[in-house]
Amino acid sequence: MRSQTLEFLAALANSPSPSGFEQPAASVYRRYTEAFAHRVTTDITGNVIASLNPDAGCRIMLAGHIDEIGFVVHHIGEGGLLHFSPIGGHDDVTPVGQRVWVHGRERLPGVVGSKAFHLLDPDEKTKRPEIKSLWIDIGASSREEAEAVVRLGDPVTFQQEFHHLMGDRASARGFDNTAGAVIIAEAVRLLVEEGGLHPEVGVHAVATVQEEIGSRGAQVACYAIDPVTALAIDMDHATDLPRLNPTQDGDLRVGAGPTISRGANINPEVYRLLTAAADEEGIPYQVKVYPKMTPTDAGVMQISRAGVATGLVGLPLRYMHTPSETLSLTDLERGARLVAAYCRRIRPETDFRPGLSQM
Ligand SMILES: [Zn+2]
Repeated sequence: MRSQTLEFLAALANSPSPSGFEQPAASVYRRYTEAFAHRVTTDITGNVIASLNPDAGCRIMLAGHIDEIGFVVHHIGEGGLLHFSPIGGHDDVTPVGQRVWVHGRERLPGVVGSKAFHLLDPDEKTKRPEIKSLWIDIGASSREEAEAVVRLGDPVTFQQEFHHLMGDRASARGFDNTAGAVIIAEAVRLLVEEGGLHPEVGVHAVATVQEEIGSRGAQVACYAIDPVTALAIDMDHATDLPRLNPTQDGDLRVGAGPTISRGANINPEVYRLLTAAADEEGIPYQVKVYPKMTPTDAGVMQISRAGVATGLVGLPLRYMHTPSETLSLTDLERGARLVAAYCRRIRPETDFRPGLSQM
């Protein structure tokens, strides 16, 4: 991977960006895309839109959400301990014992406290901990001491940052969906540097906010952009791991290429164009089947206004919604090439109505 792309990925992954608090990640995305996009704008919800041919009448929207799951402080106890609520979907066991950053008046280190294993009642030992029974200890010894540095509503993130593992693997907090946001930015860069985009087709690559709490950013961005076709780029569960079962969970392998989704949430012509683009460009891909609406920005984009021809490109990701999400950097690069190749195939006359395409 190019060093500038790798630096962008790491900077985005290391930016704290729980849903509703995406501003640090948004400014990283803005700075990177301003170097090559024809126009970069920010809307009222905080979505950042990097556009090519911004005034073209035939519009493609690409959505890569920049929010991550996290926590928010909702109560400061007498003893200076912080009580917190989840932002987005967490496994309640994950925070136990973790180090966190509390993004207060300054960035404060903290640890997630819980009742020690030895002190649990026998029936407590058989139960999973719940987030409401945990707290954050920043070292303050009174409420007053804590209140001097932390306010109600301050966001909290795990401390884990971007790390290289062996080979082309990397791990970070929030690769869901830092990796997707990098893919859309890189697709725009490839279209600028390598060309091939139809002059009457516009691409709007949106770093969407608030996906983890219901795709709220994508909903307003899609209304505003009013695209004919849209792709969401998000993470899929890799299943090349112990205790997973392909007959139940599908067969998605890290390093075997990006995923192209198929199902009711996906326009059949978009699926056909994506797979044709991958085949013609020699990009390996894996098919992910969704029997219902996907839990991604594709859900709201498909039914925006009078309907949008929507597709979903993903990457196989291990350890989803933990601080150690793991993926292949090669898959990420292939994902960007695939999205750029899709955009090159769109013409103003492309007909996405199911069953009516002349192709
Ligand atoms: Zn996601």
